[in-house]
Amino acid sequence: MAWTCINCEASNDYHASTCEVCGMERYFSISEVNDLLKMQELDPSELKKIQTNFKRASTENKNLRQKNKELAQHIHDLEQFKEKHNPKIQQFENQIKHLHQWNLRWKTIIALGGITLLFFILAKITITIQF
Ligand SMILES: [Zn+2]
Repeated sequence: MAWTCINCEASNDYHASTCEVCGMERYFSISEVNDLLKMQELDPSELKKIQTNFKRASTENKNLRQKNKELAQHIHDLEQFKEKHNPKIQQFENQIKHLHQWNLRWKTIIALGGITLLFFILAKITITIQF
């Protein structure tokens, strides 16, 4: 089924979208458009499939929103818990810091003590050798 160009009246191939002579775009009459739309109508089984997929996606979406809500609640609870126990956490952290400081001091003292002890031992050895 050929179509006739409305510009130059050339007869064109059915599958061409522009006129082969002047390049004018194909003109469709309203009845042709309706015929094309009818041809492209989905068959009922295809429509059913799409509806099923849509329903499934909707359910999935609903479930995810529910989960999201629960997680948000959980986060909120955790934040409240943290807020409530924050002074205690702070206190523990301070204690740990304090212990670290003392740990460092003790290490220094022990190291110095060791050096002093070593010094005395060496001194004694020297003394023993001298006498
Ligand atoms: Zn033409």
